Amino acid sequence: MNPAPAVEAACGACGTGAFLSWASVAPASQLFGPTVRRTGDRSTMAITFDDGPNPAVTPALLDLLEKYHARATFFLIGRNVRRFPGLTREIAARGHAIGNHTETHPSLTFMRPRRIADELARCDEAIESTIGKRPRWMRPPFGFRGPQLNGVVRQRGPLGVVMWSVLAWDWKPQPAAPVIRRLRRARGGDIILLHDGDHRVLEGDRKHSVDALAHWLPRWADRGLRFINLDEVRAAA
Ligand SMILES: [Zn+2]
Repeated sequence: MNPAPAVEAACGACGTGAFLSWASVAPASQLFGPTVRRTGDRSTMAITFDDGPNPAVTPALLDLLEKYHARATFFLIGRNVRRFPGLTREIAARGHAIGNHTETHPSLTFMRPRRIADELARCDEAIESTIGKRPRWMRPPFGFRGPQLNGVVRQRGPLGVVMWSVLAWDWKPQPAAPVIRRLRRARGGDIILLHDGDHRVLEGDRKHSVDALAHWLPRWADRGLRFINLDEVRAAA
């Protein structure tokens, strides 16, 4: 999703415009409708990946997750699903949930409701025609939400908005060490946001994300955490 630096904009002196800017991207903000940002169960952790599927990264990631009996959630871009249907089926076959990350990864903040509905419907169609199941969850690209998103999501039926509670800031190529450091604060109940894809290029470099996860998965497992996919989360937390 690549959240914008606006997430840092919250401050006591902010005016209304800056506040709305913060509210449109801050994962905890409920101003523009209810969102899920924790699992609701401190014995579990939900690891999520945005912007795939990515044939350069996702297969190794699937093997790593399997090694630790970890289920995860992949928020896929519809046009990438159409390009890589086999990999999309592989994600689902391995027990992971698949979520809607729109068809083309635009910012939804100022988009008209009809266009948002079209972005979600086309991505839904790509996923459903590939794995035979319509996604239950969506995550807005860049984490941006405007006041119109909630209305579109509610009209469409059983599809909730998922944000996150821990951000790895992993959407640019970098060494694994800073990503590992940022994930130090992750605890039971968290929804972790990582990326296996890059919305700008088809086979983006995400080795740092895979390596950071290889570091943390055994440590989190040692704490007794269960790694669940978001289809296993029942209520908004
Ligand atoms: Zn994204």
